[in-house]
Amino acid sequence: MSPIHTPVLGREVVDALAVRAGGSYIDCTIGEGGHTVMLLAAVTPPPRVLGIDLDEEALATARTGLTAFGDAVTLAHGSYVDIVTLASEAGMDGADGILLDLGLSSLQLETAERGFSFRQEARLDMRFDRRQKRSAWETVNHTRERDLADLIYRLGEEPRSRRIAAAIAGTRPIETTTELAKIVAKAIGGRLGRIHPATRVFQAIRMAVNEELENVEEGLARSVEMLKPGGRLAVISYHSLEDRLVKGFIGRESRDCLCEPEVLECQCEHEASLRRVNKKVVKAIAEEQRANPRSRSARLRVAERLRA
Ligand code: SAH
Repeated sequence: MSPIHTPVLGREVVDALAVRAGGSYIDCTIGEGGHTVMLLAAVTPPPRVLGIDLDEEALATARTGLTAFGDAVTLAHGSYVDIVTLASEAGMDGADGILLDLGLSSLQLETAERGFSFRQEARLDMRFDRRQKRSAWETVNHTRERDLADLIYRLGEEPRSRRIAAAIAGTRPIETTTELAKIVAKAIGGRLGRIHPATRVFQAIRMAVNEELENVEEGLARSVEMLKPGGRLAVISYHSLEDRLVKGFIGRESRDCLCEPEVLECQCEHEASLRRVNKKVVKAIAEEQRANPRSRSARLRVAERLRA
């Protein structure tokens, strides 16, 4: 396994996807390849895995760690929103299992110049895909104060969003991560317990820059299209906004009719495409939570494709 990266809920994901020899799997967020290595090593001969990521540097790291598996693995630079096209380009016409491990990787967070971390000085960036034009710099410096407040409130679930947005607007232009962190800390006061006051603001800006919630919604729908009947979908989320979205999606897709309860005869003609596999979310066991702080907030949801 990759020495740099132990995947979150690795064992649980391999079980959830019921990996079998001869199967085809898609890792929508391959990152450094932590989960993919486990999928490949789960059975002999290894299954086929298509690994997708927006981050070219992550793909390069993954590629190095996966050479032993030869052509069992195909890597694709792009968004999982385009899973159908990317899979078809890789010659895969359906999947027995699909994984989405949402958010950012520890490598991205720890690489100072990517600008994700308020602990390390760097130009405000936060793009998963460096081909993208808009970075955190544009979002921080060119969003109207009121929209910035809304964004911080909605995506950061930060109740003091107006005060923070006013402080940002009053200090612009802001060039670096640590500059932004200081402005936020000054606006709402110092450290509250163990969580740095800029945590939620950085989360909000990162999610806006990468359009994360929109992508999750779209990516889930496209992933279901790619699943073969009986194929499994596994999604790991790291905060309540994402998890609510995933839960809502699986809930809707597990029901045959989405009409309001007072409607006597179904008018929506919606047909269930999924069956929920675990009613309760899967969380990391205490041992993993101790060893890997990133796993503490992880929530795994699993569903199975009903029909084509
Ligand atoms: N499971 C991986 C870690 C994934 S971290 C491992 O075990 O190594 C999340 C990854 O998702 C990051 O590398 C990020 O660049 C990628 N990502 C985020 N949004 C994406 C999208 N819309 N399409 C493809 N990859 C995305």
